Amino acid sequence: MKRSMWFLDQKDMPVNWYNIQVDLPEPLPPVLHPGTGKPIGPEDLAPLFPMELIKQEVSTERWIEIPEEIQEIYLTWRPTVLHRAYKLEKALDTPARIYYKYEGTSQAGSHKLNTAVAQAYYNKKEGIKRIATETGAGQWGSALAMGCSFFDVECKVYMVRISHDQKPYRRILMETWGAKCVPSPSPDTNAGREMLKKWPDCPGSLGLAISEAVEDAISRDDTHYSLGSVLNHVLLHQTIIGEETIKQMEMADAYPDIIVGCVGGGSNFGGMILPWMRDKISGKKPDLQIISVEPESCPKMTRGKYAYDFGDVAGMTPLLKMHTLGHTFIPPAIHAGGLRYHGMAPIVSHLNRLGLIEARAVHQTGVFDAAFAFARSEGVISAPETSHAIKVAIDEALKCKESGEAKTILLAHSGHGHFDLTSYSKYLSGEITDYSYPEEEVRKAMEEIPDVASE
Ligand SMILES: *Cc1c(COP(=O)(O)O)cnc(C)c1O
Repeated sequence: MKRSMWFLDQKDMPVNWYNIQVDLPEPLPPVLHPGTGKPIGPEDLAPLFPMELIKQEVSTERWIEIPEEIQEIYLTWRPTVLHRAYKLEKALDTPARIYYKYEGTSQAGSHKLNTAVAQAYYNKKEGIKRIATETGAGQWGSALAMGCSFFDVECKVYMVRISHDQKPYRRILMETWGAKCVPSPSPDTNAGREMLKKWPDCPGSLGLAISEAVEDAISRDDTHYSLGSVLNHVLLHQTIIGEETIKQMEMADAYPDIIVGCVGGGSNFGGMILPWMRDKISGKKPDLQIISVEPESCPKMTRGKYAYDFGDVAGMTPLLKMHTLGHTFIPPAIHAGGLRYHGMAPIVSHLNRLGLIEARAVHQTGVFDAAFAFARSEGVISAPETSHAIKVAIDEALKCKESGEAKTILLAHSGHGHFDLTSYSKYLSGEITDYSYPEEEVRKAMEEIPDVASE
C-alpha cells in the first residue's frame, strides 16, 4: 500500500527554533523609532513585550532552544502530519507530486498557536499577568486565548466590531478559553471612547483595535501587548513547521522543487520556508522555487512598495522596512480575513528583495475553485487564507501536466476552514466575486508612507 501520511514521533520533534538572521546574505535593515528616525533599542519595546522576545527579535544565535514548558504544550498537538495529496494529483491528472503539511490540527485550528503558546509563556515567566491584543476575524484572538489559558495568563482581545457582531463563533471560542473579548471601538480605552463619541456606530478597523490594545498594555504595569504575525520572533516560533517538514520529507524520501504558502503578515509562510532557505542560501539547492501567495485585492508583495512604514493604521508602532501598501490602506472585505493586512514581515520582504523568493497574487474566485477541488479530493475544508496557496500549488501541478515534469510541490497548509463555512456557502450559491484592485485607493494610501531614508 502507498504511504500517504508521515508522522514524526513525539521524541523526534525539533527542540530548537531556527533563526534565519544568522544566515542571511545581507543583514535585515534596522527597525526605526517613529519620532527620531533612529534605530530603536530594547528599552523602547520593553513596555510592550517581554525581554526574551525582544532579544529573539534581534538574536544572533542560529538555534534558539524551545523551553521545555513550551515543548510540553507543543506535544499536545505536534508534530503535525505531512500528507501526500494522491487524490488531488489524480483529480488533476498531473505527474507532479504534491505534499502538504497540515497545521489545522492544533486546538485553535491553525499555525497561530505555535507562537501564541510561546508568547504567553515568556510573558508569564516575566511576571506579566495579562496580555492585550487585537483581532480581525478572530483567528489570532482565539489562538492567543488558548495559549494564555495554558499558562493562566489573562487575555483581553479587542475585536473589530463588525466581525465581533457578524462572526460570533471565534468570539465564542475566545470566551470558552477564558479570554475577555470586546468589540472595538470599546468604551475601555481613550482611543475607543473618542471614536464612539464621534461615531457611535463605528464598525471598527484593525488599526483602531491595535491602538486600543497598545494603549491598554502601556497604561498597566501588569499587562503586555502581543502580535500574531509580521515580527521576527513570531516567524522564529513558526519555524517548528519547516523543521518538522524537513525530517518528514526525508522519511518520505522526497525533496521539494517548489514550496508554496499564503501570506497575510508572513508567519506561516516564513515558518515553513525559512528552514528550507538554508539549502538555497548555502548552494545545496540553489534552484529551489519558493512562492508566496497573496490576494489580488491586497497585493503588497506584488504591487506594494519596499519602504519604511508603520505596522498599524494609527501610526503608533516603530517603523519597519517592508513591502507595504501604506499603513492607511484598508483592503476590501474579502473572505480571507487573515490576509487583509497592508504590510509584510520584514524577513519575508527582505528575502523577496534579495531575489530568494517570488510572489504571486490570485483572485478570490480561483481561490475558492481550488478550495473546493481540495475538499472534494483530499476531504479537508481549508481556510480561505490557505486556499490561496492551494490555488498556486494546483496551478503549478497543472503546468507539470503540460510539460510532463514530475516536480515535487510542498504546500504549507495553515489551517482548517470550519468557521468559514459562510464563505463556502456563498461559493455554492454563486456569490463569490473577484474584487478589482482599487488602484486609486492604493495610490492614495501609498502617499501616506512616511518619508524616511528608504531606497
Ligand atoms: C492568520 C492566518 C493566515 C495569515 O497569517 P500569516 O501570518 O501570514 O501566516 C493564514 N492562514 C491562516 C489559517 C490564518 O489563520
